[in-house]
Amino acid sequence: MIRKLISRVFRGNKKKPAAGAAAIIPVASHGITRDRLSSASRRTCEALHKAGFQAYVVGGAVRDLLLGAEPKDYDVATNATPEEVRRCIRRSRIIGRRFQIVHAMFGQEVIEVTTFRGELDANTKKDEHGRVLHDNVFGTQQEDAARRDFTANALYYDPASENVIDYHHGVGDLKAKTLRMIGEPRARYREDPVRMLRAVRLAAKLGLSIDPEARRPIREMASLLENVPAARLFDEMLKLLTSGHAVKCITQLRDEGLHHGLLPLLDVILEQPMGERFVMLALANTDDRVQRGKGASPSFLFATLLWHEVLAHWEKLQQAGEAKIPALFQAMDTVLDVQGEKLAITRRIAGDIKEIWSLQPRFEQRAGKRPYALLEQPRFRAGYDFLLLRAQAGEIASEIADWWTRFQSVDGEDRAQMLLPVPADEKKRRRRRKKPSNSVSGTSA
Ligand code: ATP
Ligand code: MG
Repeated sequence: MIRKLISRVFRGNKKKPAAGAAAIIPVASHGITRDRLSSASRRTCEALHKAGFQAYVVGGAVRDLLLGAEPKDYDVATNATPEEVRRCIRRSRIIGRRFQIVHAMFGQEVIEVTTFRGELDANTKKDEHGRVLHDNVFGTQQEDAARRDFTANALYYDPASENVIDYHHGVGDLKAKTLRMIGEPRARYREDPVRMLRAVRLAAKLGLSIDPEARRPIREMASLLENVPAARLFDEMLKLLTSGHAVKCITQLRDEGLHHGLLPLLDVILEQPMGERFVMLALANTDDRVQRGKGASPSFLFATLLWHEVLAHWEKLQQAGEAKIPALFQAMDTVLDVQGEKLAITRRIAGDIKEIWSLQPRFEQRAGKRPYALLEQPRFRAGYDFLLLRAQAGEIASEIADWWTRFQSVDGEDRAQMLLPVPADEKKRRRRRKKPSNSVSGTSA
């Protein structure tokens, strides 16, 4: 039976017209020797080869190597089923229910191993807008290549032969610095609208230009993003914001009309003069961190993106007579409720965001013991970085941020010298608070 299957696949391949044939590009021409790969990706391929399967490094890693960049992570594509992969690699596990992939673990490194995907056909489940819902048919390498998004992402590197296998002229497109869609761009965006965001992100990150055919439909098809599950948008948004090229990405997203429906209020934020300056400063800051090899925290990022929404609500509530701190907490909850749901911000991230925000008024208190207590806060660093941004953006006096910078750098007597006098009304309030009969807190008022 297996022989019959093999011969069928073989015959099937032979029948395909020459147009679908792959270019096989030798190492002498592309220059990527196997020692440039991560050790885990090589070991994954070796283990699969040894068991008689095909296995290739595929996607972003090959693309990045060809561009002379360091790949962020490695994916491997194979003709082995997930179950077979799991049997070949000792430390591995199957994840996902619909389209299973295998995580192969070697030390700290995790390789995502996927089985070649097959063609979409009449049985493929789609929603009413044509978005593919189930995509779980295995196929040949050639079919797998056709299912990928851009030609530059459909390159297969064989560590054994050091050949690059290229079905869609990806190497040539990369040389020409072009991001070209495989197949008809409109149809591919309909299948998966997230590809529009990927086009913008990858072009910005890699310094490629989106081929006009792929670029043209984006503006009119942008609204399809509204049907994409929030969790998926959140993942993509996070990739975009932490790509090290967030400023470029956001600018380009706006140019393509894609910022609507993404972060639903991002366009509103960007239209407020203060908000835009703050968001752009925050993104430039993050880009700088990422490019210097430091991580970017998602909660910090989202805290900056939503801050001016919080400020607007906070102000409104205070004008309506609410006390300062309760008003801030109420504003935070409102913004996180509205945005959190649309953005699929996880509860943990929402918690971290709140902490950063709620520390902000505490930086204004620079008398008595409070500044010392604030320094001890586990989230002090994030709160302080956030404060610096606010000062840079001109939202608060830079004198406050400078004070905190200095307060951290000195200690002992010098630090104590910096404290401001406790304000008179504060002294009175503290005395009152000490009496048990008067200990009602401001929040319940
Ligand atoms: P990055 O540098 O961000 O990792 P990437 O291209 O590797 O970029 P991944 O999300 O890691 O992006 O995906 C790996 C590969 O899977 C891609 O190179 C592409 O071949 C394929 N792929 C990913 N997302 C899609 C999609 N929405 N449609 C078609 N193919 C996709
Ligand atoms: Mg990748």
